[in-house]
Amino acid sequence: MSAAAGESGEDRLIAHFFRPLATAPGALGLHDDAAFFSPPAGCDLVLTKDALVAGVHFFADDAPGVVAQKALRVNLSDLAAKGADPAGFLLAIALPAEVAPAWLAAFCEGLGRDAAAYGCPLYGGDTVRTPGPLTVSVTAFGTLPTGSMVHRAGAQSGDAVFVTGTIGDAALGLLLRTSADAPWGLSAQERAHLLDRYLLPQPRNPLAAAVRAHASAGMDVSDGLVGDFAKLCRESGVSAEIDVRLVPLSSAARKAVAADAAALDAALTGGDDYEILCTVPARRAEEFCAAARAANVTVTAIGTIVEGNGPPRFMHRGAAMQFASGSFSHF
Ligand code: ADP
Ligand code: MG
Repeated sequence: MSAAAGESGEDRLIAHFFRPLATAPGALGLHDDAAFFSPPAGCDLVLTKDALVAGVHFFADDAPGVVAQKALRVNLSDLAAKGADPAGFLLAIALPAEVAPAWLAAFCEGLGRDAAAYGCPLYGGDTVRTPGPLTVSVTAFGTLPTGSMVHRAGAQSGDAVFVTGTIGDAALGLLLRTSADAPWGLSAQERAHLLDRYLLPQPRNPLAAAVRAHASAGMDVSDGLVGDFAKLCRESGVSAEIDVRLVPLSSAARKAVAADAAALDAALTGGDDYEILCTVPARRAEEFCAAARAANVTVTAIGTIVEGNGPPRFMHRGAAMQFASGSFSHF
């Protein structure tokens, strides 16, 4: 780190680690108090924030580059579910005294790689010391045509319910890391798949345009499908019937579920999926699926919106499943 007259350690840290990522003109090379962003004409800005705390959202010894990628990606997932295209992000990072420069360098390497890959440059942030665990908070923003943001409210009786990708992998991956009694007879490759899905979400940004064009309601699944879907139904004033056999599971997750019925509960109620859950009017379902194929994102219809105000029913072997807790909650 080179020193210039009057620069504090904090200034040098920002210049060395974060300035290279501030590639957008409006970021002003992090030389100012704030950044500016000129939204394209006819566009709304969509704003979202997610904070990650060491020991809560990631393990303190996880690779720093992957922690950075997860911090950005969980926000990109929110933008995708709202139908917005990523435009940029702000980063607040609270560092314990023991964090080494090598940790920050690796963190910024991962962050820069994803910022470039997703077209979401760094616009600014804040850097502070903490006596507590390392905390990373990203505020991301995206754009979409004015008025086209997809809300949690808007699902209508008769709409088809879709999810992207596969459900439950991350929750099962977390169980593999934390619980001794979750062997499920998995191969090394299957274990690696589940562990990786916990570490590194795959936000479905390529689907954003299809979501805003066709979805009546949508959200990203971050705290567990059962609980998150109940939130969407509540906001929409509807209920739903899900066919659990249709919920897409990876081959590793299917193997875990076959070995241990409790794994199905964990997959449906556990967090960290970062998949899109959306409802699409039946007459548009075919077009939505075609757009998803064109975007190279797997979507699966898992059920139907129905009238009512009860939580969605997850039908399994002829009965509605009962869950102790539908989703993760900090409080
Ligand atoms: P101020 O005191 O005016 O808030 P700071 O000295 O905290 O400004 O930050 C100086 C510049 O560096 C600002 O442009 C700010 O956005 C940027 N910055 C500080 N920390 C970070 C960070 N962790 N990531 C990105 N930019 C940062
Ligand atoms: Mg200032």
